[in-house]
Amino acid sequence: MGDTLFGKIIRREIPADIVYEDDDVLAFRDINPQAPVHVLFIPKHAVATLNDLSADHAALISKLFLAATRWAKQQGFAEDGYRLVMNCNKHGGQTVFHIHLHLLAGRQMHWPPG
Ligand code: 5GP
Repeated sequence: MGDTLFGKIIRREIPADIVYEDDDVLAFRDINPQAPVHVLFIPKHAVATLNDLSADHAALISKLFLAATRWAKQQGFAEDGYRLVMNCNKHGGQTVFHIHLHLLAGRQMHWPPG
């Protein structure tokens, strides 16, 4: 796949407000936050869309969700609650083609989304 701006953030070629990092996952604040807390959890190994996932990515996806849910608990808003979202392609509203998990928190969420 082609490089994306998230690849540049992983390589520190463009700045980001990084809040969490381990060997496989990087998390940073969204530049256009949709909630008081809006953090993007991304795998360091790039996968373009959810459609590109296979069983080989099972551990990677698990790490992504565990990093986000652990961070939510650490930050103290897990009991109040939060939302995790992954967008896929045009109808999902995906704009960056390196899969990412949006963590939104700090306000009441509503359903259905727009
Ligand atoms: P998507 O629409 O693909 O699900 O989410 C992409 C997200 O990346 C958007 O919420 C957008 O605000 C965020 N974003 C786009 N460019 C940048 C950037 O340069 N830095 C950061 N931190 N976030 C970005």
